[in-house]
Amino acid sequence: MQQPRDLLQSPFGHQDFRAGQGEIINTLLAGSHCLVMMPTGMGKSLCYQIPALLNHGLTLVISPLIALMQDQVASLRAKGVDATFINSSLTAAQRHQRYREVADGLYKLLYVTPERFRKKEFLDILVQRSISLLAVDEAHCISEWGHDFRPDYSRLNEIRRLTGNPTTIALTATATPEVQDDIIKQLGLDPGEVTIFHQGIERPNLILKVQDIFGADQKLEAILDRRRQEGGNAIVYFCLIKSLESMSRLLDDQHIPHLIYHGRLDAGQRRAAQKKFMAGQNNLILATNAFGMGVDKDNIRLVIHAEIPGSMESYYQEIGRAGRDGQPAECLLLYDQSDLLIQMDFIKWNNPEADFHNRLWQMLNDNIDEANSLGLEWLKDKMLFKHRSDSRLETCLALFERHGVSEGSLKNRDIRLCTPLPPQLQAEKIGAKTLSEQKKLHLMVQYIKIHGCRKGLIHDYFGMDHADTCNACDNCLGIT
Ligand code: ADP
Ligand code: MG
Repeated sequence: MQQPRDLLQSPFGHQDFRAGQGEIINTLLAGSHCLVMMPTGMGKSLCYQIPALLNHGLTLVISPLIALMQDQVASLRAKGVDATFINSSLTAAQRHQRYREVADGLYKLLYVTPERFRKKEFLDILVQRSISLLAVDEAHCISEWGHDFRPDYSRLNEIRRLTGNPTTIALTATATPEVQDDIIKQLGLDPGEVTIFHQGIERPNLILKVQDIFGADQKLEAILDRRRQEGGNAIVYFCLIKSLESMSRLLDDQHIPHLIYHGRLDAGQRRAAQKKFMAGQNNLILATNAFGMGVDKDNIRLVIHAEIPGSMESYYQEIGRAGRDGQPAECLLLYDQSDLLIQMDFIKWNNPEADFHNRLWQMLNDNIDEANSLGLEWLKDKMLFKHRSDSRLETCLALFERHGVSEGSLKNRDIRLCTPLPPQLQAEKIGAKTLSEQKKLHLMVQYIKIHGCRKGLIHDYFGMDHADTCNACDNCLGIT
């Protein structure tokens, strides 16, 4: 019988397992569920890919991002691994062909986004296969307390039952103890039946700094100053597209070459910016958090946050893109107290109040044909939005769909209401989620204000041990 190690070399082409991989694979093969926390780039995928090839049935991989899943499948196929994906990038004809092939027993690994489970047609073919392993990538998205909550992930409990409770592995780069508990719960598992692997989050070559500043001029000065000293590739993150654009104009005035990347550029512009950044040696890019997943460039020397991020989870993920080559890299957070208001607005917009749900429901009920013909911007207008970044409408529409209140979508001009608002969408839950997000923001303020070791605070937050000093933050190094 083939052993995990045999597959490591061929088809995967690696000499040795990295920390944790071998144990995780053996645990899965013995039929135990696993929750894996491992830093980005360390090789989480291999932990389910090797068992997938050794098991008899199909391995179903849930992954939140279409682009990433396509890259992964392409690289697996290039190695001769029998993998495929089904997502919205396929034409209807291609999709039906894949459905048929899966039903006929083809493929060892099937990658899908969580939204796929909305389709009855897909569920019908899944139950025809024997599922040996369910792999949930970016598993923090399953937790309502996680920073990237995706409502469709909350259906995975149902999916596990539907597919005969297969052995399950959930993988993420970081999860607080609270989020770890929630992942296990949301999967419908008992803590006692899950083996937790925590490979640590330590990145010794990252130097963490915080600088207090006041106003846009000082921000510009700080960025220029770091740029003069650091050189190499740098990312400057913004929370608002508006502030990104105004910084871009200031840099233009100074004739500083730079790229920009945010969600309001069209797909072609975004692709071009990313491609240019990935290819260069001395690029500066101004970006929102839309820039990130899939940015795997080894020599990023500097990551600046020009506005305070909303949580340590997103901050740690974003600075994690620095120094992948193991060489020193600097992560600087510029703190202007007035930027806190941006994050407070975001929290409001992520958590529309019960009254807003009611208003939206009523609005759709009274104007469904107009909504479908005129679309999202019209609806935003009707709901009296002042701010372009206000995302309450999108949040509410996703929740309506998840809870079966609506079907179809505005984008496809076929949204319709099916039921009145259910009690789950009411005030209590929204209050708890708001509070949790406020706590996350508060932790970021504590991180900024701390006089002690910054890495110590981060490790405590993620439930990890640490030394008294890291010798890699401004406080420990005595830099002011
Ligand atoms: P993650 O999902 O943890 O971010 P990936 O699974 O995408 O990481 O793997 C990152 C990179 O590490 C890939 O290029 C992969 O081929 C490589 N890798 C994984 N396992 C090993 C190993 N045991 N030895 C060498 N390289 C590995
Ligand atoms: Mg991964």
